[in-house]
Amino acid sequence: MIKTANWRWFTEYQTDSTLVAHKVKRFLYSGKSKYQEIDVIETEDFGICLVLDGKIQSSIVDEFIYHESLVHPAMVTHPNPEKVLIIGGGEGGTAREVLKHNTVKRVVMVDIDEEVIQVSKEYIPQLSSGAFDDKRLSLIIDDGRAYLEKTHEEYDVILIDVTDPLPEGPSYLLYTKQFYELAKRRLKPNGVMATQATSVFYSRRSYTLIYSTLKRVFPIVRAYSAWIPSYVSAWGFVLASLKHDPLDLSDDEVRSILGKRNVHNLRFYHPEFHKSLFTLPLYLKRALEEEREIVTDEKPTFMPA
Ligand code: SAM
Repeated sequence: MIKTANWRWFTEYQTDSTLVAHKVKRFLYSGKSKYQEIDVIETEDFGICLVLDGKIQSSIVDEFIYHESLVHPAMVTHPNPEKVLIIGGGEGGTAREVLKHNTVKRVVMVDIDEEVIQVSKEYIPQLSSGAFDDKRLSLIIDDGRAYLEKTHEEYDVILIDVTDPLPEGPSYLLYTKQFYELAKRRLKPNGVMATQATSVFYSRRSYTLIYSTLKRVFPIVRAYSAWIPSYVSAWGFVLASLKHDPLDLSDDEVRSILGKRNVHNLRFYHPEFHKSLFTLPLYLKRALEEEREIVTDEKPTFMPA
């Protein structure tokens, strides 16, 4: 039982029947953009957090786990990532991690919501840590899918860092077979893609569906996960690749790649951890292997499925 007297709480639904409560020190910002509700709060345990549509996106205490997990396995798997596309990633943490690789010459970041970027820059600048001022970064305000339909650019790495697929949200059509086919077309022949893939526990079906959908589109698909305390769950990611397999890299090769690219200031991802990220417990391995359905525009997946 939560004692509420004298305290203010932020509550986040994991499912219709599980609610997580965070004690709040300060409410810093609250607004509604054209696409979503945007809040910035400071919690006791996770510090300042960006919250979209009632879901914590990034907390300054543990955001490095999510951003390093999304970015570095894919970047390291590609032998020479020069051009990178980020879809979403409004708070700038994904761009910050991508720009650590000195092979990178151009990053295009396409987020639908300029207000998320402005609010993040103002209230949580440590998340982007200068990424928005880096000359290699071009920021485009657009729907990620609309951008992929229009652009003729080809990328070495594409990172999908959009909000979870919610029925009223702006991102659920970025988890479908049609969307992944578009992304594949905009990858160079040895390109690598990675996407966040929701909670492996509270929305396991979405995770397995995203994996099976990517398997229909890409020849090499590897699911992985990392525990993210502020999400109160092990979080799912999926890497999809046209040629290079992340599992072919030894610890020494990962060490050498990070060293050559001058990527030293990491807090989560490291050479010995690369393969372990892809080592999943049996119940998850089975759930992924047994998934037969896929996500399409006609039949999207919605969290917390
Ligand atoms: N860490 C995250 C999480 O918890 O799922 C994702 C972080 S990031 C803040 C998500 C971003 O995706 C937001 O800035 C949002 O505006 C963006 N986004 C949502 N739908 C999008 C779309 N259709 N195209 C481009 N960006 C989108």
